[in-house]
Amino acid sequence: MGADKNYSLPENIFQIIFEKSPGSLLVKADKSQFTIVAVSDSYLKVTATTREAILGKGFFEVFPDNELQVKDESGARNVFTRVVETGEKIDVHRYRYDIYNSETKSLEVHYWSCSNVPILGSDQKIAYILNTVSDITEEVRAKEAAVESTNRLQMATDATGLATWDLNLKTQVFITSPRMAEIFGHSADTSLTLTELRSQIATEDMEHIIRRSYIKALTTGEYYYEVKIKWPDQSVHWIKTQGIIIFDNDKHPLRMLGTILDITENKRDEIRKNDFIAMASHELKTPLTSLKAYVQLLAKKLAKANDPFIDNALAKADNQVNKMSDLIYAFLDLSRLESGKLHITKQPFDINKLIADTIAETNLLSYSHHINFKPKGVIMVNADMEKIGQVINNFLNNAIKYSPKENPINVSCKIIDNNVQVAVSDKGIGIKQRDQEKLFQRFYRVDNDRIKNISGFGIGLYLSSEIIQHHKGKIGVESKEDEGSTFYFTLPLFNS
Ligand code: ADP
Repeated sequence: MGADKNYSLPENIFQIIFEKSPGSLLVKADKSQFTIVAVSDSYLKVTATTREAILGKGFFEVFPDNELQVKDESGARNVFTRVVETGEKIDVHRYRYDIYNSETKSLEVHYWSCSNVPILGSDQKIAYILNTVSDITEEVRAKEAAVESTNRLQMATDATGLATWDLNLKTQVFITSPRMAEIFGHSADTSLTLTELRSQIATEDMEHIIRRSYIKALTTGEYYYEVKIKWPDQSVHWIKTQGIIIFDNDKHPLRMLGTILDITENKRDEIRKNDFIAMASHELKTPLTSLKAYVQLLAKKLAKANDPFIDNALAKADNQVNKMSDLIYAFLDLSRLESGKLHITKQPFDINKLIADTIAETNLLSYSHHINFKPKGVIMVNADMEKIGQVINNFLNNAIKYSPKENPINVSCKIIDNNVQVAVSDKGIGIKQRDQEKLFQRFYRVDNDRIKNISGFGIGLYLSSEIIQHHKGKIGVESKEDEGSTFYFTLPLFNS
């Protein structure tokens, strides 16, 4: 089938198209005059003119240019002249030309972009210039707003001393604000790579603190750690990093971004407080040890007297001394942990035996609750026996503290995959969902009337959680208010 030759267009179709096209104006290439020969409706509308008023008139007669525009390289006079002289199309990407708004009766700021195309006549000389303009006021405004909001954010971060960072995990491109260099002890104009920044952090902290928080962030999406850094002058400073991970649709990490804050001053305060706790608990330990020795000595001496009151009073005194010494040791551990000096000494042992021994010790101190435990064989783990004993002890003491006397406590120990899971269940007051996540934080105690009269400092579970994490295990709780709680931890099996 051949082309249809029977089409017919109205004679003035091109004029109609021109007049309906957005923002078009045709001027003659008669230099300095630039007579307007055609104009589109939309051009007339934005310039608030009529066709009759401007056709046949010189462009600058209708839209007079001021002194500034005459000098301006991208002003219409210069652009038209250059199009005629060079024969090339010239684009002007942004210029301001204010429009009179007849409704508000005022001049409105407008931004435009335009292109100026030379059009040849039959003699192959430039006869016209086609000037096409588009209103880019909204784009310009949006860009300005974006710049302003970035500036505002920058001012806010500057005021708080925060540095911002953005790491592309695919390309490893790392972008930081100038404050980052200052926090790391360099001048703000130093540009530092991620490797350079990391070299100011101790290798073991990279492994224990930063890697651990990254692994955690892969599931939670939130990145947080506090770590010490060494400045080029060898002084030690502390930073707090907070950020988020952005994942792609397949849940692969794509990008990380966040802030870094210098927390050296707060940390120094905390260290001083820690040192005080360490010193105070250390000083309390010595008199308490001798008090315990005297109580035991007295108990031995007076056993012969066969006086039930004395026996009972001394047993109670011994019990209280033990409670106090547990507390002092917990405070000592806390300060060791905070200063990174909590050492784990691993050895292989049977965890079932440790649980049975810890229960036996607990029964000696408190007979209020019946503790059920049926060990099945020997389960070997490679761990710090004393510290794991402390965790079990803490679970048991809490189960006793937070459940009524007549309710039994059940302890279980079972193998799940390559781990052993130890769980302590009580039928006590239970814990609300919103408190459950926070129990393992330092000094956290549930705030309600029922535990007001139960003594505690909220450090037992924090220490337990740190001890278990140092063993690469997991710790957790399942609980329902008024029904009871199950606290559990897992440890890798020996040789697994
Ligand atoms: P402490 O018991 O000294 O306050 P812990 O760190 O051992 O400190 O426990 C933190 C908080 O968790 C307790 O104050 C209590 O509110 C809650 N808790 C711990 N164990 C139990 C439990 N078995 N039942 C109910 N609440 C518990």
